[in-house]
Amino acid sequence: MKKLGFGFMRLPVVDANDATSVDFELLCKMVDKFMAGGFTYFDTAYVYHKEQSEIFLRKALVERYPRDSFTIATKLPMPKVNSADDNAKLFNEELKKCGVEYFDYYLLHAMNRERFEKAQKYGSWEFLKEMKAVGKIKNIGFSFHGDVVLLEEMLKLWPETEFVQLQINYIDWENPSIQAKECYDLCTKMGKPVIVMEPIKGGSLVNIPEEAQKLFKDYAPDASVASWAMRYAASLENVMVVLSGMSNMDHVNDNTDYMQDFRPLNDEEYTIIDKVVEIINSSIAIPCTACNYCVDGCPVGIPIPKYFALYNADLQSLNKGFSPQQTYYTNMTITLPTASQCIGCGQCESACPQHLAIIDGLKLVSERFDK
Ligand code: SF4
Ligand code: SF4
Repeated sequence: MKKLGFGFMRLPVVDANDATSVDFELLCKMVDKFMAGGFTYFDTAYVYHKEQSEIFLRKALVERYPRDSFTIATKLPMPKVNSADDNAKLFNEELKKCGVEYFDYYLLHAMNRERFEKAQKYGSWEFLKEMKAVGKIKNIGFSFHGDVVLLEEMLKLWPETEFVQLQINYIDWENPSIQAKECYDLCTKMGKPVIVMEPIKGGSLVNIPEEAQKLFKDYAPDASVASWAMRYAASLENVMVVLSGMSNMDHVNDNTDYMQDFRPLNDEEYTIIDKVVEIINSSIAIPCTACNYCVDGCPVGIPIPKYFALYNADLQSLNKGFSPQQTYYTNMTITLPTASQCIGCGQCESACPQHLAIIDGLKLVSERFDK
């Protein structure tokens, strides 16, 4: 299998403020291009695109291609599992939404300590094993956002695990709060292939400082900035697939181009990436991946990742005069709550897989933009 997966988390939309407004015609063309290149791995989840992603996957892929020409990965939404019966209820709903009889890869979604305990309490892992036994799942695993101690505990308790999905990218590789390297090494030691999520960290490894972009461009003028991050993840030997949340045709064209005959990074390229990491680490203020996990639970309705993206961009902006970020913020807050309206309830921080101090981050946003 080729090492590029099509993530259905950031699909093209016609209205940037409506995650369900997927540009279906464009999506079909993107799927066609991806499939034509011989790529076959598609990743979705119950919760993506306000619970519509699996439906768009059915319409754009399942209803247009033979079932044996692609593989589908989707995930059990652990926050919605509140009884043993919910496992089957949600799973069957997902089969229906995707329009399939079986899933090639099925994951417990975004596991951390709290979700692990929930999965134990409600028999979610046992349920996955049952579904595998009756042929409704081909491979079972989980996506993971905890620390290496928890990962080892889970892999020992659930030896049937066939793969683990980890957040790996060059900026998080040695980040102590993500523990990407430690988790990857553990999976390798325990013989579990790894699927990589967030290889470009929600797009933040595309919008890197100009000084860092220049290092990439000087070495390889035709290679996109994103391709460095994708190739970094794919160069790891125990990585099975690298997911890319493609949002337009340019993303598909670029990804399928350099991943067609994949070439791992060489020593010189690794050295350049080390320098880029140094530059980025000194410039990213709030390392939010725009996963949106914090948003639904916010009682005030603050669009947290959007505000963090504006804040980061504003700090990195070379244009010190006019601030487009301030304009975006001002326009957004005509209809949306400002960062200063955060009541500090902490819901978002307990949902954040990056363990970000969101409340403090919003204070910074407010100081910068709420005028
Ligand atoms: S702490 Fe603030 S941003 Fe976070 S969920 Fe509560 S109100 Fe929303
Ligand atoms: S603040 Fe955390 S949970 Fe919210 S979008 Fe960013 S990374 Fe995701």
